[in-house]
Amino acid sequence: MACVGDLQFPRTPAPVPPEKRNGATVKRDAVAPQGLYRPRYRRTPAMRSPDYVQLSTAAAITLGLIPGRMHRCACTHCLNLLLTYPEGCRANCAYCGLARHREANTNYADRNFIRADWPAAPLDEIVARIADAGPATPFQRMCISMITHPASDADALTVLERWTSRIPRGDIPVSILSNPTTMTRADVARMLDLGADIFTVALDACTPEIFERTRGKGVDSPHSWGGYWRAFEHARELFGPGRVGMHLIVGLGETDRDVLDICRRLHAVGGHSHLFCFYPERGSLMDHVPAPPRARWRRVQLARYLLEYADHPFEAFAFSAGGELLDFGMAAERLDAIVASGLPFRTSGCPGKERPDLSACDRPYGDGPPSDIASYPFQPNGNDLRRIRAQLARRP
Ligand code: SF4
Repeated sequence: MACVGDLQFPRTPAPVPPEKRNGATVKRDAVAPQGLYRPRYRRTPAMRSPDYVQLSTAAAITLGLIPGRMHRCACTHCLNLLLTYPEGCRANCAYCGLARHREANTNYADRNFIRADWPAAPLDEIVARIADAGPATPFQRMCISMITHPASDADALTVLERWTSRIPRGDIPVSILSNPTTMTRADVARMLDLGADIFTVALDACTPEIFERTRGKGVDSPHSWGGYWRAFEHARELFGPGRVGMHLIVGLGETDRDVLDICRRLHAVGGHSHLFCFYPERGSLMDHVPAPPRARWRRVQLARYLLEYADHPFEAFAFSAGGELLDFGMAAERLDAIVASGLPFRTSGCPGKERPDLSACDRPYGDGPPSDIASYPFQPNGNDLRRIRAQLARRP
């Protein structure tokens, strides 16, 4: 079993044959896209943003584009739109299903990402469906997910513009899941001008060393720790408090203290952390690495909630010499009431319309299976809370 702070090394990918690089297969076949595309149902069409975008399976079901039901969820409340190109993402992050090394075997639009398929559809059709639904839509937020591609900055702006020209800004606010490696401060400012509500940076790795190993030179990927923090700084200055977020993954080899120290830094400047429990993605360079023990994950989830939403100081936490969280430093009665609310164990992300500490981006089963839920996409019931309490009581 993985312990706090264990090194989690990516495997080395096989080289990609030249005839498969940069979306060559899709470009050679040159199949024209026609409406909805479901991964691996037919030959991959040559789809490009901004005219085409991919969307999560949960969003496609909620929008009525594909049939399906989600365990214990009526719908998702966030419409995640992912930019798409035959060349795909040119980065190579070790835990990601979209990484460049996968072009050896899988076309970009057919890759699993966050353990789900991402169907593709014309952007105008998606926007029209949302506009036609009006107040009846279940979506409380839309998110444009950029990737590392030369056209991604300009196309994200076009997607945003096409959306805000039809959907009133207050109806369904827009988040940007940015690509800091290619974006300038001017790009961030333009996002704000065009009506983006929240700007997020997916730092993912909680230390510079883990970042380098999983998303930088260690895996022949272009990202840098400094570049990600620079983009966050631009967004913090331009968007202001409460409108910047950062994705962090628990289980890449960091300690509890590493994660919570970043949560503390974010909270101090008006930012929010969006926590993900590492969950190995099939076909990624870390698909052999186990998820962190639930006991550890629950404690970090709870501590993050205390920092950001319960005015609890970081200094109250007690850590071991190795960075393991030992004690929350809160009176048992108060801590118990917060656990009983279930809120710390819900999926974290940009807020919806119900309350500031409840995310619209519920990502059903994005970081754990329905049989062993890591982030609850719904309010945990009595049985769920009993299970959560038992996990919290275990030593990681
Ligand atoms: S930049 Fe994002 S989409 Fe691209 S490989 Fe890295 S995590 Fe995946």
